[in-house]
Amino acid sequence: MSITAAAMTHDCDVLVVGAGPVGTALALELALHRVSFRIIDQLPVRSDKSRALVIQPRTLELLNRHGAADTIVQRGRVLRGGSTFINNRPAASVDLDDRTSNPGCFCSSQICLESAIAPDAS
Ligand SMILES: Cc1cc2nc3c(=O)[nH]c(=O)nc-3n(C[C@H](O)[C@H](O)[C@H](O)COP(=O)(O)OP(=O)(O)OC[C@H]3O[C@@H](n4cnc5c(N)ncnc54)[C@H](O)[C@@H]3O)c2cc1C
Repeated sequence: MSITAAAMTHDCDVLVVGAGPVGTALALELALHRVSFRIIDQLPVRSDKSRALVIQPRTLELLNRHGAADTIVQRGRVLRGGSTFINNRPAASVDLDDRTSNPGCFCSSQICLESAIAPDAS
C-alpha cells in the first residue's frame, strides 16, 4: 500500500506511515487509547527480512500490555550477555542479565516480533 490521496482523506485521527515494529506498536497504543487510525506501508506484504534481533526487557514489558510478550518469549531466546572477540581473543564483554521483571534481553527476529504484535497483518 502507498500513500495516496484516497489514504489521506480517510476518516481517521491518525495516519501511521510504516507498518514495521514502531508503526505497529504505535497503532496498538492508539487502539488502546481508542484513537482512530489507519496504518499503511509501501510494501504490499510484510517483509521476510529481519533488521532487529534484540528486544530489551522494557520493550517486552510494554508489548506485554498488548498480550504479545508471551509469543515473543516462546519463540525467542534469552540473552544473558555478549562477548566480542578480536583475532580469537576476548576483547569485550557485556552483562545483559535481568534488570526488570522480564528475563534479560531477548533474541528474537523482527519477523517474529511483527507477527506477534500484529498477527493478522499481511
Ligand atoms: C543490521 C541491523 C541490525 C539491527 N539490530 C537491531 C536490534 O537488534 N534491535 C533493535 O531493536 N533494532 C535493531 N535495528 C534497528 C531496526 O532496524 C529497528 O529497530 C526496527 O527495524 C525499527 O522499526 P521501524 O518500524 O522503525 O522501521 P522498519 O522496520 O524499517 O519499518 C519501516 C516500515 O515503513 C515502511 N515505509 C518506509 N517509508 C515509507 C513510506 N514513505 N510510505 C509507506 N511506508 C513506508 C517500510 O516499508 C517498512 O515496512 C537494526 C538495524 C539494522 C540495520
